[in-house]
Amino acid sequence: MQQDVGREIAGEPGSGAPAGGCDVVIVGAGFGGMYMLHRLRGLGMTARVFEAGTGVGGTWYWNRYPGARCDVESMQYSFGFSDEIQQEWTWSELFSGQPEILRYANFVADKLDLRRDITFNTRVVKADWSEAGQCWLVGTDGGETVVARHVVMATGCLSSSRMPDIAGRESFAGRVFHTGQWPHEPVDFTGQVVGVIGTGSSAIQSIPVIAEQAKHVYVFQRTPNFSIPSRNGPMTAEYEAQWKRDYGRRRAEARKMRSGVIAPLNDKSALADSEAARRDNYEARWKLGGTYFMQSYNDLALNKASNDTAVAFVHEKIRGIVKDPAVAAKLLPSNHPIGTKRICVDTDYYETFNRANVTLVDLPETPIKEITPTGLDTTGASYAFDAIVFATGFDAMTGTLLKIDMRGRDGATLREAWAAGPHTYLGLMTAGLPNMFMITGPGSPSVLSNMIVSIEQHVDWIAECMGWMRANQVAALEAEQGAQEAWVAHVNEVAHRTLYPQANSWYMGANIPGKPQVFMPYIGGVGAYREKCDAVAAAGYEGFRMTRARAAAQAAE
Ligand code: FAD
Ligand code: NAP
Repeated sequence: MQQDVGREIAGEPGSGAPAGGCDVVIVGAGFGGMYMLHRLRGLGMTARVFEAGTGVGGTWYWNRYPGARCDVESMQYSFGFSDEIQQEWTWSELFSGQPEILRYANFVADKLDLRRDITFNTRVVKADWSEAGQCWLVGTDGGETVVARHVVMATGCLSSSRMPDIAGRESFAGRVFHTGQWPHEPVDFTGQVVGVIGTGSSAIQSIPVIAEQAKHVYVFQRTPNFSIPSRNGPMTAEYEAQWKRDYGRRRAEARKMRSGVIAPLNDKSALADSEAARRDNYEARWKLGGTYFMQSYNDLALNKASNDTAVAFVHEKIRGIVKDPAVAAKLLPSNHPIGTKRICVDTDYYETFNRANVTLVDLPETPIKEITPTGLDTTGASYAFDAIVFATGFDAMTGTLLKIDMRGRDGATLREAWAAGPHTYLGLMTAGLPNMFMITGPGSPSVLSNMIVSIEQHVDWIAECMGWMRANQVAALEAEQGAQEAWVAHVNEVAHRTLYPQANSWYMGANIPGKPQVFMPYIGGVGAYREKCDAVAAAGYEGFRMTRARAAAQAAE
């Protein structure tokens, strides 16, 4: 039935836009969807973008919590595809805050006149593949169905925020916030008692800022996390000019780096240094700040004994900053190697626990019993608040994709295909779903990298692939099952050479009860991954099978 509808709408399968439809539907208008639209226009293709929010920017549109900020330097966490944009835009800080990144997204949208092809406030809820039409029928929550040759999921890896299943959650009578769905109006905590649940990156950024305003903050910590001071500061004209003069070369270098960031690497094992030299090195890195700490040595992610030396150093720092030894002891992360959960980057996080208006509640000691109309009860005490902030994270990498009812060849669903965890070829496509591409999908470096670099790489690859399909009159392209399973095995094998799978992290799906526990991103590095993707394309899209457009197939007969 569905196929018949596709044939009727799309006419004979060709390689261009189906009749009455467009070449491509893009889902999401974060950085991924924005750049995809721009690239497709450059190829002369028609595209429609659907975005659930009312504006562009994705992550930076939704995560407006106090203190939200990127932890990759802004000179690097920004688009490199347009010299005009990178020369014209000016950042005010080394690590930009959310309002500035959102302004940047809007600047790019204005500059490229993107909004005319974006339908805001509209969620894509389903997508059905029509075998007869060799096209997708994409359904929105507004009841519209759009027919398109291709679909690009630019839906984001961290775009389904997650409320925890805590008894009584709905009963709370005060204000309720989630960091990932923060209101657009300013939130004033002055004179208020606030409970923050969670101590991941979002909590670690927001707690110091909330504590400056609120009367009292209770921090409910289930697992302590490692955090490194960001050492953020104002952008100097000289530093900015250095980058802008040399942008072409630096962007090219970043694209080859393991993490997509130009970073001070140290090609040495932590165990190769004497204890004194190691301490000096860690001290210098702590002063440098941010994610560069994890590059203090080349084996922190690989060798537990090396990793332990970094853990010991950060523990010592926490004990040195937090004045109450009992509170400091509770803040020491101990159940995972450093860096195996996304390293947090902060401004005055540990210092905040020296404030009289901040109380750390250690949940392993006194677990939460329930949320009440006035606050929260643990097994140890009752707490009353005016507001609760859930900094409880996301159903990462797969959550947003699986919310869409996607049905591919023969009606097979993505939900069934990924029942045991995501299976993709290169994190770009999934067998059974022809012409459905993912930007930074599971099985690609994505969240382990500077995501703008990874987004640009995927968008460029996808655009070139679509251009090639059109030039070669290919109506449909699909990952081969064998190539996909070999890639999944490789992704797993590489991950298990590292310490990462030792942590109950969202990388492993461990934060969502019942989610299959597999390491989802590809840890082989951005540079090596790019080479693999380029080699696959150069070999005529090796590992993908193709359906020729009808006219081309007839001509060949
Ligand atoms: P997103 O920005 O998530 O955009 C996806 C968009 O798709 C959203 O706007 C969403 O509304 C929309 N969407 C989803 N499903 C649908 C649907 N069914 N229908 C319609 N629209 C839909 N990365 C870094 O590299 N460095 C950082 O410092 C960094 N900091 C971060 C800080 C926070 C608080 C968070 C949450 C993430 C951070 N990230 C960081 C990761 C960040 O998500 C990426 O850098 C990047 O912004 C992702 O862009 P995207 O376009 O792929 O996805
Ligand atoms: P997160 O890292 O998943 O942290 C969620 C926190 O909530 C954890 O401390 C978790 O504890 C806690 N939690 C969840 N359910 C709970 C429950 N039922 N009871 C008590 N505590 C509970 O989420 P996030 O902080 O939003 O960060 C997600 C990712 O977004 C980051 O890892 C990063 O990639 C990105 N991000 C980046 C930045 C940045 O600095 N640039 C800032 C924010 C976010 P457990 O650990 O015990 O599960």
